[in-house]
Amino acid sequence: MGVRICSSVVGAFSLLIFVPWLALAVFFPVSAQSAGPDTIFIGTFFTLDPAHPKAEAIAVSAGLIIAIGSRSEVVALATKGTHKIEINGVALPGFADAHVHVEGVGQQLDQLDLRGLTKAEILAKVAEAARPLDNGSWITGGGWDEGFWHPSVFPTASELDVVSGHHPVVLNRIDGHSTWVNSKVLALAKITRDTPDPDGGLIRRNAAREPTGMLVDHAQELIRRVIPKATHALREHRVRIALQQFSRWGLTSVHDAGVDLEIISIYKDLLKGGELPVRVYAMARGDAAITHYLASGPELDLGGGMLTVRSFKLLLDGALGSRGAEMTEAYSDAPQEHGLELTKDIDLVRIVRSARQRGFQVNTHAIGDRAVRRALDAFQESGVTPSERFRVEHASLVTDDDLTRFARMGVIASIQPVFVGEYSRWAEDRVGPSRVHWVLRTGDFLKAGVPLAAGTDYPASDSGAPVATLHCLVTRQSAAGNPEAGWYSNQSVDVDQALRMMSAGPAFAAFQEKDLGSLSVGRYADFTVLSANPYQVPPNDLRTLTVRMTVVGGHITFDGSEISTRKP
Ligand SMILES: [Zn+2]
Repeated sequence: MGVRICSSVVGAFSLLIFVPWLALAVFFPVSAQSAGPDTIFIGTFFTLDPAHPKAEAIAVSAGLIIAIGSRSEVVALATKGTHKIEINGVALPGFADAHVHVEGVGQQLDQLDLRGLTKAEILAKVAEAARPLDNGSWITGGGWDEGFWHPSVFPTASELDVVSGHHPVVLNRIDGHSTWVNSKVLALAKITRDTPDPDGGLIRRNAAREPTGMLVDHAQELIRRVIPKATHALREHRVRIALQQFSRWGLTSVHDAGVDLEIISIYKDLLKGGELPVRVYAMARGDAAITHYLASGPELDLGGGMLTVRSFKLLLDGALGSRGAEMTEAYSDAPQEHGLELTKDIDLVRIVRSARQRGFQVNTHAIGDRAVRRALDAFQESGVTPSERFRVEHASLVTDDDLTRFARMGVIASIQPVFVGEYSRWAEDRVGPSRVHWVLRTGDFLKAGVPLAAGTDYPASDSGAPVATLHCLVTRQSAAGNPEAGWYSNQSVDVDQALRMMSAGPAFAAFQEKDLGSLSVGRYADFTVLSANPYQVPPNDLRTLTVRMTVVGGHITFDGSEISTRKP
């Protein structure tokens, strides 16, 4: 092992101490003006840095790791002002979610949660919510999934009318790509048998062509103008409660998959007030935001790497559950349907070209095999190079040919392992046995050398918790542990590969691999403390791991130690 010098941090770090029994490298400041570390964290660290995979302590100054190594060597750096914190559990590089909808998470926390409920339970919940409300007040909810129901068919407005005649009711399907509304909403939005399906959208209808109360993809826009608009204060509240939830889940960094200028301004306000507990990599979405950023250029590493806007989010198709994912061949369980094309090739290429010119990454939502191919085609036609790290968000159905194109073109697959839960229930019905091996092929991606970043798409999935993602990656089971044998378990990965997809993967996908993704000198002191060592826990028990502490830039953003010691 040679002497390695880190000169990027405050002061000069040039002395290496080699501790043979642990093979740990310790760097420490020798500069006279250095005041020593702000904080030293002591415990068990798995660093995901091959140069020193394990450590007993890290020293932090101004948010950065300035030393890492054995307890005695790092503690020796302490000065009078240094805080020493013993951590109770196993620390890993901070978990990142490469694809989450922050405001949506806040909204989810604020509305009726319909996840995993039967239709009867949902109707009872709506009735209960309606009871104390004045006539005309809106009831909103989300997370329902007809995949849990028997029979597994889309619900109708008239079923909702029975429990909510006087209130407009809007209930989002779990994937966010379709909405179940009652007749009051259809009337307010003036959606009738004569309303044409909008481009990229579908109004589900009965035999008499009357709308049934299910609005798919762009048809959801038809009700947007009648739903009372969320105020700035409400949007800020949602962002705040979502960020708090992320800290409890052990997230140190999130990629917000589609934000407008108002949400970006909320992030900036929180940052200014020192109230941003999670790093945010924001993908600008919508004409106004994209036009603004094309004019002004990217915003990198605001507030010590807390906020970055250097990517655009585009939607090419819908979701597989609501048959909005764009397929080359028709759906196996709906032979007339091929899904929806939400962005045309010509628009896609135009945005990709202007994004490249201005130094923006493009992150395209593409779920169906046809949408994935269109994304890769547009990147190729526009001359996108691997160093630009363009991304396909979801990449849920990928043919063998396109799999190798991902690797060749250096396109990042931004995947959501927790989808295994819902997909295991109905994906084979949607795509049939000949295409099902294209679905959520994490192991194949990895073997092909495709750069991978794991996320959750929460609240459009069963769980936003990174522990659930870790469990799903390793077991190919849902967050709830189904199916028992794992769904196409040949696509599973090991714990180490999974942890890298949840830390180094998102860091690379955000151009932050020099600052994040492993616990090494010169990087931000972002880490997540788990209740046990994930490398030793039996795979089926991974989902029982709990988060003990979350640390971002050396600051504790969640401390569960009190909660866990209070537990019986
Ligand atoms: Zn999404």
